[in-house]
Amino acid sequence: MLHIYDTATQSLTPLTTRTPGEVSIYVCGPTVYDLPHLGHGRAGLVYDILRRYLEYRGFRVHHVSNVTDIDDKIIQKASSEGRSPAEVASEFERSWWEAMDALGILRPTATPHATDYVEEMIELIEALVEKGVAYRTSTGVYMSVEAVPGYGLLAHQPLDSLRSGARVSMDEEKHSPLDFALWKLAKPGEPAWSSPWGMGRPGWHTECVVMSLGILGEDFDIHAGGMDLQFPHHENERAQALSLSKKFARHWIHHAFVEVGGEKMSKSLGNFTSLPDLLQKYDPRAYRLLVLRSHYRSPMEVTERTMVDAQEALARLDALARRFEIKRGAGRNEPAYGTVADEPTSPPTDRISASQEVGEISSHLPSPSEEGRRRFIERMDDDLDTPGAVAVLFDLVRQANTAADSGDLTLARSLVETVEELSRAVGLDIGDQEEKPDNEIQALVDKRSQARLEKNFVEADAIREQLSKLGWQVEDTPDGPVLHRKLEHR
Ligand SMILES: [Zn+2]
Repeated sequence: MLHIYDTATQSLTPLTTRTPGEVSIYVCGPTVYDLPHLGHGRAGLVYDILRRYLEYRGFRVHHVSNVTDIDDKIIQKASSEGRSPAEVASEFERSWWEAMDALGILRPTATPHATDYVEEMIELIEALVEKGVAYRTSTGVYMSVEAVPGYGLLAHQPLDSLRSGARVSMDEEKHSPLDFALWKLAKPGEPAWSSPWGMGRPGWHTECVVMSLGILGEDFDIHAGGMDLQFPHHENERAQALSLSKKFARHWIHHAFVEVGGEKMSKSLGNFTSLPDLLQKYDPRAYRLLVLRSHYRSPMEVTERTMVDAQEALARLDALARRFEIKRGAGRNEPAYGTVADEPTSPPTDRISASQEVGEISSHLPSPSEEGRRRFIERMDDDLDTPGAVAVLFDLVRQANTAADSGDLTLARSLVETVEELSRAVGLDIGDQEEKPDNEIQALVDKRSQARLEKNFVEADAIREQLSKLGWQVEDTPDGPVLHRKLEHR
């Protein structure tokens, strides 16, 4: 069973889900006002790995991640560039998904946009005002956090120290410096929605509580995000839910930042100015491998060196896959266990038959593949120990190469299949990329076929030579010519 470090209890906790066999996860998504940075890439990958691993273990995963498309930062950017906030938000949302797609991150099962939930947010704020835990000022509606029992659970600090740690508020109308805006009245020219309190827009903390409860329902399983969101963002979401006697998240997961030279990565530290910039320079799968090699609760260094290291390790996985002619599977991720189970702890028996026949190993001893899979799962179940799991993976790579070198192809193939299966369980697509010929290449192939038809073999051979120089090998089969990408051009 998967154990995760729950930041609410500050302890390793078995993942107990509301519905057997299903996991509901809400991950705080981007505020779309700029290009995604390296930390965003890590966040996307950490939760993609969690999701894929849970699916591998047979769970059905509901993965909701919001898009904050209205916010002070978007409004500021828009006004400084003389554009509308909607234009800014849609431009940077596009860049966001482009980068996430390039990283092979599965799209969440739902991606609610804040501007689509304003009505529901107004309803929630009205309920809080009615309960007497929210109040009006001249700038908006505020939540009175000191009225909330257990406020500070995620901050792990008593109210007194939180109060003195809070930034001194310029707003004298607030009852406590910890109180936060539920509704912000609009200044002239700002985008605004009508509400019982006047034209304005909802606060960020209200967005996530409304969308998580609205889509996943009360008592959903995991609320996740970066460590900087633990307090006050997540604390404040929780405060609103609890004030309305709604059960909120069962578990809280927070991941660490990307660092360069010990500094938190924001936008332009180090050699990579943005995530799209990094993905231009390196194989996006190398970034996933780098994320896997770091524990999600530890800071991760992204430098030329760590990226080159990851790329080299990736090449070892690809080389093994190539040796066994495994092609990349374009996101195949079928659950290993076939059916959804409440407590899927036994290894997938359908995948071990090949290795069971190997050598004189007695039938009740695990095969090297089974043993590798067991160790991999053991590492992943221990608070997603991906560095440990990746070490198991590379151990299997070494064993597979050794077996292949010594001519034990049955064992080697079984190990390679396990490497492929476990890589896929964390979203690493290994092997050769099936490359499609472009129009120019296809035109040459057609021209050659025509020449052969006309028995002009001199021209046909010349075109074959030309294709070869462009990195393509033509094989004539009874079904027509078949193209292969030459190895050195892969
Ligand atoms: Zn959020």
